[in-house]
This record gives sequence, structure tokens and C-alpha cells, in this order.
Amino acid sequence: RAKEQGRNTYQFYTEGMQNREVMRLELDKDLDNALAEEEFVLYFQPQLDLNDSSINSVEALIRWQHPRRGLLPPVDFIPLAEESGRITDIGRWVVMAACRQLAKWQNSPFSNLRIAVNLSGRELDDESIVDHIQNTLESHGVPADRLEVELTEEIFIQNIEHNLNQLSKLHKLGVHLAIDDFGVGYSSLGYLRDFPVDLLKIDRSFITDVTERHDNAVITRAVINLAHNLGIQVVAEGVETREQLNFLKDHRCDLIQGYLISRPIPADELEKALGAGLLNLDTPVGS
Ligand code: C2E
Ligand code: MG
Ligand code: MG
Ligand code: MG
Repeated sequence: RAKEQGRNTYQFYTEGMQNREVMRLELDKDLDNALAEEEFVLYFQPQLDLNDSSINSVEALIRWQHPRRGLLPPVDFIPLAEESGRITDIGRWVVMAACRQLAKWQNSPFSNLRIAVNLSGRELDDESIVDHIQNTLESHGVPADRLEVELTEEIFIQNIEHNLNQLSKLHKLGVHLAIDDFGVGYSSLGYLRDFPVDLLKIDRSFITDVTERHDNAVITRAVINLAHNLGIQVVAEGVETREQLNFLKDHRCDLIQGYLISRPIPADELEKALGAGLLNLDTPVGS
């Protein structure tokens, strides 16, 4: 009986595995064309400055407009691309697309905007990524301080020396550096001393119930104070309610990002929303 159950469980497991594997292989094959066919698109999510309620930065979040499966979120293809190594080319495309957008905005009402792009540890491993960023900024005539790079704490755990070297070069160019998903990694705090960090983004998991859970409130306050004492600015991720906003304002968080202000939206929608003055605390944008 136990054996039978075990076998059923096993069969169920392998069938699920097979379906996932089929989908994985299919998507993996489709990724080949995606770059050539320009199927990727950047969505932008604004960050609201709590000091003066202005928006001076947006995070670029990649989407894949798949010819048959529709608009795919990063979770459906970024891990796959990291396994196959295609992430390198995708990352280069993201940097290029961000610079292209910044160039477009330069002589427009949106010339104040900075774009933050996400780079995985795998992408930072690539020795030539720093040159690529510098060359792409230059060829688009975009000042380096318009670009921000978001990295997660994984880069402080492996290849530390290499990563420090890469980030120091980027920082010297004038590119801003942000630590994404701060507080959920396994790295030590020492790197905040050793690496040129401009911004900390407190992970959404602390913000979600910051007004209901004393422990998350304590952690969030401590992170804000720690960062400020080190001369680092703080962004709260995943802000969805007024209560969260008020808490963060009371505790001098610098910037907020989340559905309360806007979902990630395409560039033209962002421009419309900014132009109409909609990106404030009264009107959540995006569906
Ligand atoms: P992330 O960089 O931490 O981005 C924040 C994620 O939280 C985004 O999901 C965003 O849509 C979502 N989010 C923002 N505000 C809220 C909120 O108020 N509530 C909730 N529930 N969610 C919110 P998305 O766009 O699906 O991206 C997921 C992750 O994929 C990103 O996490 C980032 O790690 C990765 N990613 C996105 N674009 C790129 C890229 O161009 N390159 C690389 N390597 N990774 C990327
Ligand atoms: Mg990010
Ligand atoms: Mg994040
Ligand atoms: Mg994340």
C-alpha cells in the first residue's frame, strides 16, 4: 500500500515535471529569437520622493511580449536565461533600452528622470559589462548619473573581490548603485562599509505588514537609521497602503515605490501619467 502510494506520488511528480520541462524547453528555444525580434519591453515603475513628492527616478522592469503566450513577467524567463547564459545578452539589451529611453527624455519635460536597471550577479560576472554600460551611455549621449544599477545581496557572497572591482568602476563613472531586496539575503553588513552603495531598497516582505507587525516596524526603522548614518538613501519597496506610507514618512524614509503610486507601466503611459500630474498619492496608476 505504501509502495503503491509512493509510486502514484512519483508518477504525479514526473508528469508535472514533464509539463514544466516541455514549457521550459519551449521558452528556452523561443528566447533565441526574442532578442532578434525585439520581443522584450521595459516597463517603468516610478519612485516617489517623500521630501517633496516629486518623481525623479523609475525602475525598469523587463517583460517579454511572447508571440503566443502574451506578456510574460521576468519570473517566467529570467531564471531560465540565467541557466542558459542568455542573461548576458538580455542584460545588455536592458542597458541599451534604458539608455535609449534616457536619450529620448533628455530634451523633454522628463529630463529629470533617472532609470534604475536590475543586474543579476551572473550579469556582473561578465568582465565586459562595465565597458558595455560606459559605451552605451556615451553612444547615447547620456550622463552616467542618469543610470542606476540595482543588485541583490548575492553579489556580496560570491566573487566579492571581482564584484567590488566592477562596482567601483561603475561608481567612478557616476552610475548610482542600489541594493535591492535588502534584508532578505545572507550577506554581512560589512559590505555596506566596503562597497560604494548609494541606495538601499528595503524588501517588500518587511513593508507589507510594517503597520501590523511590531518586529517589521523595528527592522524597517533600524534599516532607515543605519542607512542614513552611513550616508545612504532608503527606498521602501511594495508600498500599497496609506498607512504604510505614513509610517515610512514618519520615520524619514526617502523614497517609496509600489502600487499605491503606480504599477510598472510602459513608457508612453508613464509620460501621460506624469504629464497629467497623476503620479501622486491620490491616484494609483496602472492595472
Ligand atoms: P525587483 O527588482 O525587486 O522588482 C520589484 C518587483 O515587485 C516587480 O516585479 C514589481 O512589479 C513588483 N512590485 C512593485 N510594487 C509592488 C507592490 O506594491 N506590490 C506587489 N505585490 N508587488 C510590487 P516584476 O516586474 O515581476 O519583477 C520581478 C523581479 O524580476 C525583479 O524584482 C527583479 O529581480 C527581476 N527583474 C526584473 N527586470 C529585470 C531585468 O531587466 N534584469 C534582471 N536581471 N532581472 C530583472
Ligand atoms: Mg529591482
Ligand atoms: Mg526588489
Ligand atoms: Mg525582488
